[in-house]
Amino acid sequence: MLELEEALERILAAVPPLVSERVVLAEANGRVVAEQLPSPIDLPLFDNSAMDGYAVRAEDVTSAKPDTQVRLRLIGRVAAGGSFAGEVSASTCVRLFTGSPLPRGADAVVMQEDTRVETGQADEILVLDSAKPWENVRLRGEDVKRGAMLADTGEVLTAGRISLLGSAGYGALSVGRRPAVGLLATGSELKEAGQTLSPGQIYESNRLSLAILVRRAGAVARVFPLVPDALVSTREALTEGLDKCDIIVTSGGVSVGEMDFVKRAWEEIGGSLQFWKVAIKPGRPFVFGRCWEKFLFGLPGNPVSAFVTFLLLVRPALLRWQGAREVGLLSHPAVLAEPLANPGQRRHFVRVKVDADGKVYSAGLQASHALSSLASANALVDVPPGVSLSAGTPVAVLRWE
Ligand code: AMP
Ligand code: MG
Repeated sequence: MLELEEALERILAAVPPLVSERVVLAEANGRVVAEQLPSPIDLPLFDNSAMDGYAVRAEDVTSAKPDTQVRLRLIGRVAAGGSFAGEVSASTCVRLFTGSPLPRGADAVVMQEDTRVETGQADEILVLDSAKPWENVRLRGEDVKRGAMLADTGEVLTAGRISLLGSAGYGALSVGRRPAVGLLATGSELKEAGQTLSPGQIYESNRLSLAILVRRAGAVARVFPLVPDALVSTREALTEGLDKCDIIVTSGGVSVGEMDFVKRAWEEIGGSLQFWKVAIKPGRPFVFGRCWEKFLFGLPGNPVSAFVTFLLLVRPALLRWQGAREVGLLSHPAVLAEPLANPGQRRHFVRVKVDADGKVYSAGLQASHALSSLASANALVDVPPGVSLSAGTPVAVLRWE
């Protein structure tokens, strides 16, 4: 039985070299950047106004106050998207809007609310307040200097970063190719929703949760039909999975029972088993196999075990496959609101609920078939074997949402 860290290390070491592809920026959310992306331009690209107002020379309005108003001659108007050919000289100003380029000669913007126009004096502006040099001006390059890195290899793109890349003019970029992940559920007791259950049968649910987690890890989920507990069916399903996918994730059939066929079927179709069993709860009977550059992740059938082993051991592999640098779950500091105990001999990843104040509560029944607690949980806490943590203990919570 492997420790979690060693299991993860061995999985990540087996991930094949990155293959990249071009995608349009609009489709790149969640994709892993496969090249360095420097900014081809300064951002902002030109000095421009942060307000609706008037471009002025700050020195012309130093004495402006509500009762000592400064009179400026209005010499032009620049809408956002326009430009001004002239120059702001002494005691003149130019009408601007948010985003209008700052005309030559001006070094500040007086906001509209600090000005007044007298009736019949449309070419004159009364300034009611002073402006410091560069006040209300967004300076060229103050956000990003030309040549600065906007995104680096291995970063997972977010809406914010995509917005930044778009503002620098990127329309497409190289990202890691998404692996196709085949999801197989084994078990003769399993039925699809809508089918009638005979005595002893249950509804299948692992492919649902795993497909969501696969997609959230940036990979492509391919859901395969249910696989009954028989060697031939398991072999056929795995062969088809190998044929159509880069990675196969099975659930069930990896325990010690004589009805557990995944390991044997995998070896019979030419795969090798890299390791079996990891010292965690839930999820001990996890198996990792290879067939050339393709992988098998055999997850335990219990729904919570499948979910947790996916998060801890499969998700990192899918992310690394796409070239991601960070592959672990997000970890946040929090504090136990009630005790958590692990009387067992394996690390227990306990389902918990973290509230907005960072207080951590057990999410309920912790058995590996119990889905109600998984449904209410928003994090896991790693409790070492034989350890009782009292209320008030600071803990790290692992999050997947
Ligand atoms: P196994 O790992 O095949 O021994 O299955 C362990 C437990 O998980 C058994 O109670 C199975 O019925 C249940 N189980 C296995 N696969 C699934 C699945 N896909 N959906 C729901 N329950 C499952
Ligand atoms: Mg089974």
